[in-house]
Amino acid sequence: MQRFSIWSLIRNAVGHHEGWQRQWRSPDPRREYDVVVVGGGGHGLATAYYLAKEHGVGRIAVLERGWLGGGNTARNTTIVRSNYLWDEATRLYEHAMKLWECLSRDLNYNVMFSQRGVMNLGHTLQDMRDIERRVTANQLNGIDAEVLSPARIKTMIPFINLDTRYPVLGASFQPRAGVARHDAVAWGFARAADALGVDIVQHCEVQGIRRENGSVTGVDTTRGFIRAKKVALVAAGHSSVLADMAGFRLPLESHPLQALVSEPLKPVLHTVVMSNAIHAYISQSDKGDLVIGAGIDAYTGYGQRGSFPVIESTLQAIVELFPVFSRVRMNRQWGGIVDVSPDACPIIGLTPVRGLYINCGWGTGGFKATPGSGWVLAHTIAQDRPHALNAAFSLERFSSGRLIDEHGAAAVAH
Ligand SMILES: Cc1cc2nc3c(=O)[nH]c(=O)nc-3n(C[C@H](O)[C@H](O)[C@H](O)COP(=O)(O)OP(=O)(O)OC[C@H]3O[C@@H](n4cnc5c(N)ncnc54)[C@H](O)[C@@H]3O)c2cc1C
Repeated sequence: MQRFSIWSLIRNAVGHHEGWQRQWRSPDPRREYDVVVVGGGGHGLATAYYLAKEHGVGRIAVLERGWLGGGNTARNTTIVRSNYLWDEATRLYEHAMKLWECLSRDLNYNVMFSQRGVMNLGHTLQDMRDIERRVTANQLNGIDAEVLSPARIKTMIPFINLDTRYPVLGASFQPRAGVARHDAVAWGFARAADALGVDIVQHCEVQGIRRENGSVTGVDTTRGFIRAKKVALVAAGHSSVLADMAGFRLPLESHPLQALVSEPLKPVLHTVVMSNAIHAYISQSDKGDLVIGAGIDAYTGYGQRGSFPVIESTLQAIVELFPVFSRVRMNRQWGGIVDVSPDACPIIGLTPVRGLYINCGWGTGGFKATPGSGWVLAHTIAQDRPHALNAAFSLERFSSGRLIDEHGAAAVAH
């Protein structure tokens, strides 16, 4: 792998930037692998990277039906935080946060992780009670979290309007939270995994999962049958479709989730502002665009678009909070398909088929977990049993009833 550094930049500048190598190979798939990862989003690529790096697994392929990051990874609004309510979720997301803090160096790729803080506004007395409860739980778990008064919010963002139809009574704030550059995350993991020998095969759709005597034996793809000792399904909104191919059902609903970006502005908003109550959140990218997100569309489906009323109510809420943005023009809008589980927590672990593993159910909030999710799934695949960090996130919890209800801290709030 050609390493990036100030020296490689200078060398290539002198050479008119004609000497850069391709970032990863485009190999034809082999007939057989030790591990096949289905899905070339951030989670699938991170899984392959940590399998090769931490567990020395030799023959790994990532099969992606489209292009890398073409799913939710590069459609999301990139909010990264770890201030969840329950111990199990906090531990998992905080593990991811620690990996984020060293990720650019680890991958030798700038993922532009920017710890600018995330603020969750409270608009009712019940919101404020929930915020107090969550901040206290976070502090007990060693997570940086504080409650902000309206005056403090105003000091941090002088142009915010707190006197809205549902007045802002305060907020929770996680200073170490922030945003990252989403496609760089996919590319950085792809490049580093490729350097460790992982075959990344784009435009290769998995259309069947073969099994013999209850164990997985391989996958049928648009590029032929590929034999595999182990297969991991990491397909976000399409996880149920893949589980169906393997003969079991997942307790997931696939919904569209929308976002939009504005024309670029000079730097004005230096933190992330979210509101569960009014279903809207906003940040400003390093490029200057305002990045705005909505709640999920209520219907299920696979059309990556979403409906207009959701956008309309989101923008109403944003303009009420930030009247100063009322004349900013929006550049682009899009949707992604999110896999929502009943307790708003992911499913990471074994499946009823031996040798087949699953990582899904991240719903509206899986980007923040990308490195941690890949790390625990790699461990689960290599050891054939979950790591302590993902043991609670098994598929069995939906029959045993040991749910981890994070609706308050996840839901639409990413
Ligand atoms: C608008 C929007 C905003 C969001 N905002 C945030 C946020 O601010 N913070 C946050 O933490 N999370 C956010 N999320 C959620 C986050 O994007 C996802 O949870 C996360 O990116 C999931 O990553 P992934 O790698 O599992 O999925 P994906 O990136 O979707 O990767 C799955 C891949 O599997 C591939 N695939 C599917 N079926 C097959 C098949 N049969 N064969 C081969 N490949 C297949 C797909 O093409 C896709 O590339 C948001 C999501 C959306 C849509």
